[in-house]
Amino acid sequence: MRANLLFAAFSMVSTILFAQKTDDFTTSSGYTLRITHIGHGTLMFNFRGKVIHIDPWSRLAEYDSLPKADYVFLTHHHGDHLDSVALSKVVTSNTLLYWTKICAAQSKLKLEGKVVANGDTIATPDFRFIAVPAYNIVNKRSNGNPFHPQGEGNGYIFEFDNLRVYVAGDTENIPEMEGFGYIDIAFLPANLPYTMSPEMLKSAVLMLKPKILFPYHTGNTDLNIIKDMFVDIKDVDVRFRELK
Ligand code: ZN
Ligand code: ZN
Repeated sequence: MRANLLFAAFSMVSTILFAQKTDDFTTSSGYTLRITHIGHGTLMFNFRGKVIHIDPWSRLAEYDSLPKADYVFLTHHHGDHLDSVALSKVVTSNTLLYWTKICAAQSKLKLEGKVVANGDTIATPDFRFIAVPAYNIVNKRSNGNPFHPQGEGNGYIFEFDNLRVYVAGDTENIPEMEGFGYIDIAFLPANLPYTMSPEMLKSAVLMLKPKILFPYHTGNTDLNIIKDMFVDIKDVDVRFRELK
């Protein structure tokens, strides 16, 4: 009886296995972009010997043991994206930090960051990036305000040579996605009530048409629902990594 119950519980566990912690891509100039999936909305990129931390969050990793940042990108000021503990461990006097106006105002650390807003296009010494909108249309707090009001947060489209990588931040399937152009790799959030339902995610993917989709910031969303939803979309390679 007990064994049967155990088996029943075990068989309900998701069949999606998270095989990899990193993915490598080669750009047109022959450089490797390595993406490390730290968890939730947090990533680390290595490109041309440089380390890029995105929304570093100390709850997910021991940042003492991760490399210092040449670049840091913050999408917005919520606690799972703006974390002073993680920032204090990766930012050096040489780090280029890009964040939002509210991040700069709310950070407990006085850091020399560059404020970027929706629509800004910036060339760093190693790559170019575009800050794009990230906001809610449907999902709101009980007081009627969106969890992510338009204009506060950024998504980022990174251009590593010809490789365009979109890290969406906390957003819904906003109409601006139609105009983002060619996307090789997309990190799109899928957790209610803060970001997208599986249906919204599908709508976003149909607008963006990325070659590769990494669902991220997935919270308690059942990834099998997402997997089933993309069975009929053959030209998008949906890759599941441990990004709850
Ligand atoms: Zn948020
Ligand atoms: Zn978040």
